[in-house]
Amino acid sequence: MAKAVKNENLLEVKNLVKHFPIRQGIIFSKQIGAVQAVDDISFNVEKGETLGLVGESGCGKTTAGRCILRLIEPTSGEVRFDGKNVPSLQKEELRELRKEMQIIFQDPYGSLNPRMTVGDIIGEPLHIHNLAKGAAKEKRVREILETVGLSAFHARRFPHEFSGGQRQRIGIARALAVSPRLIICDEPVSALDVSIQAQVINLLQDLQAEFGLTYLFIAHDLSVVKHISDRVAVMYLGKIVELTGKTELYKNPKHPYTQALLSAIPEADPTIKKERILLKGDVPSPINPPSGCRFHTRCPKVMDICRVQEPAFVDSGDGHFVACHLVPAADKAENLA
Ligand code: SF4
Repeated sequence: MAKAVKNENLLEVKNLVKHFPIRQGIIFSKQIGAVQAVDDISFNVEKGETLGLVGESGCGKTTAGRCILRLIEPTSGEVRFDGKNVPSLQKEELRELRKEMQIIFQDPYGSLNPRMTVGDIIGEPLHIHNLAKGAAKEKRVREILETVGLSAFHARRFPHEFSGGQRQRIGIARALAVSPRLIICDEPVSALDVSIQAQVINLLQDLQAEFGLTYLFIAHDLSVVKHISDRVAVMYLGKIVELTGKTELYKNPKHPYTQALLSAIPEADPTIKKERILLKGDVPSPINPPSGCRFHTRCPKVMDICRVQEPAFVDSGDGHFVACHLVPAADKAENLA
């Protein structure tokens, strides 16, 4: 199945920042700090592409996804969807745009209203966006259920009557109901058994080919995004530290953090031996992130400069972006040669 035509950006994120203020005091409340959940990240997603956004829990990837959809308001930065700057849209324009940008949540148990039938859950966005009513809505719900591998009669059932994998299919059906162009998949398989994960990822790939969908696929595990992504961005403590094509990233990771994450993925072939890079300590707090390179407190290759100077996010060649003092920009590398 061929993917939709690429090379045209559907989503452009520029210098996106989300800081959650920390306040003290009840009457004269004042800000005493901020959780720097997302700190100046930029990337684009082409039409028909899947960009994987990966990082440990708390790195800001989910916050970034929610800022893009404006489920939470970004502190600053641009999010352009098909040229429109999402943070500056008024309520009605944003409502219109929400038809085109949907989300699949991580928790297939908590994200579905237990008191609504599956038919009502999938039909709700059709109703909100005035896309179908009555018999036409029911017909559309039946069609979508079949598209995601469920049956039309499931529309009368309640979420608790389904397994985790089936519930995630219902979540996908709800996102698909309004015929979106971009779906933010926020850890859509993390809560599922490994065997079911593959089925859901295959379903997402089939739907992408059939409907020309574009995905931002958020996950904490590089092995999960490997199968579905065209390119992968790796996040650490609110920053993107590496971004490149999938094959290049898995073959030639340049950032020490990506190298450590990849070293932790078990090889399917037991004869292949690889050295595990163990990172020291925990991820530091985003309230008071380390100076210079945020990874310096755990990096096995740390140098003096890393503690004081933040590395620039540069193209090290052929669109392989890295933020590390050890990796020069392509033009500087040429000068050194
Ligand atoms: Fe490690 Fe320094 Fe590179 Fe940061 S800039 S990843 S601390 S070598």
